[in-house]
Amino acid sequence: MTLIDYMEGYRILKKYGIRSVESGYVKSADEAVKFSKGRSIVLKVISQKAVHKSRSGLVALNLGSDSEIRRAYGTLTGRALRFRPFKILAQRMAKGGVEVIIGGNTDQQFGKLIMMGLGGIYVETFKDVASRVCPISRRDARSMLLQLRSHSIIAPDAAAEKRVIDLLLKASRMFENTDINELDLNPIIMHGNGYEAVDIRMID
Ligand code: ADP
Ligand code: MG
Repeated sequence: MTLIDYMEGYRILKKYGIRSVESGYVKSADEAVKFSKGRSIVLKVISQKAVHKSRSGLVALNLGSDSEIRRAYGTLTGRALRFRPFKILAQRMAKGGVEVIIGGNTDQQFGKLIMMGLGGIYVETFKDVASRVCPISRRDARSMLLQLRSHSIIAPDAAAEKRVIDLLLKASRMFENTDINELDLNPIIMHGNGYEAVDIRMID
């Protein structure tokens, strides 16, 4: 049971056609500034010891200027000292939207289970999740979505519904066909015409 490196997880998602926000490790404030290319970015401390990054102050969102990036880089590396060893991950700031969670775990009896629900701050409040034993069909994926009380928030129209179902099927295929035992894409941000995973956690 080992945690897969963030960027390795990023490559696995890519291989299965699941979009995630452009990301890369940076080794200095200068590298972080270079990564931004003048656009807003996010910096995060990545460490085996930090499971809830934002709760520990290890996520800095919406960094627009070079000085903001430099300041955040300094603050984060300071806070990260008690989570050593750590890396600093830079990401593009994703467009706002509904946050969805897709997860997976392995049950002694049933094997791999895939789950989906409303993500972000609502996950713990509403516990609105649907899960199925893998493999799942398109029909199963659709029924999982419709089972959620939040389905019309997650997929307000037919195009969004198709997008979510396609995404869930890809995630489920990825989960089945790899050695990953535990999966947590939380959140995947859904917007007008797409989606992006912004937090990847995989255990094999
Ligand atoms: P953790 O779940 O460990 O606290 P996340 O990486 O999920 O850390 O970040 C916390 C929250 O910050 C996310 O739920 C999301 O709302 C927001 N967030 C994180 N990364 C991005 C990003 N690249 N673009 C936009 N929002 C982000
Ligand atoms: Mg998260």
